[in-house]
Amino acid sequence: MQPKTASFDFSDLKACKLCASRFAATATSHSPRPVFQGQAPARILIASQAPGVRVHESGQPFTDPSGDRLRAWMGIGDDIFYDAKRIAILPMSFCFPGYDAKSADLPPPPLCARKWRPAMLSQFPNVLLTILIGGYAQKWHLQTRSSVHSVVANWQVYLPHFLPLPHPSWRNNAWLKKNEWFEAKVVPVLRQKVQEALL
Ligand code: SF4
Repeated sequence: MQPKTASFDFSDLKACKLCASRFAATATSHSPRPVFQGQAPARILIASQAPGVRVHESGQPFTDPSGDRLRAWMGIGDDIFYDAKRIAILPMSFCFPGYDAKSADLPPPPLCARKWRPAMLSQFPNVLLTILIGGYAQKWHLQTRSSVHSVVANWQVYLPHFLPLPHPSWRNNAWLKKNEWFEAKVVPVLRQKVQEALL
């Protein structure tokens, strides 16, 4: 990965330990391990939430069932999804945040976006389409307080630059079942926009 400007070095992010004590205090007592993808020519940005524990272990974004569903929604396979010259993947927290008392993933630490996000986004000047996955990415990028349901239901408002999606986690299976319009109407548009951006 080549930084676009001399003022930013990806190795600084890879070595970041700002949340070390926060993560050490979680049930998994893990160390920071920033996970992201991208090179300057990337035309699609996936703005996601945070790595889960499987991604924390693999060191590669979306190596989990959420990734399988996201690739299916986008209509692309691993070969394109993991082509860093085509697709950048920047979660709101670059590290796995740990679990809460109910074994759900903790929210992304806001400190991560404050520290790294503007500089990281500036490294990808060729992005045509930003896919906003889940509420944290939507609130940050769209400067909205609206719910994920409301933002996704109004997806047309954010085109051509943004396309908001619910998180592809199994935790949203009930939402997906209740809101069949998403897979019937939004997913086909997502696939079309992905293909257009990749041309
Ligand atoms: S989550 Fe972000 S700020 Fe925290 S240690 Fe990882 S890279 Fe650093």
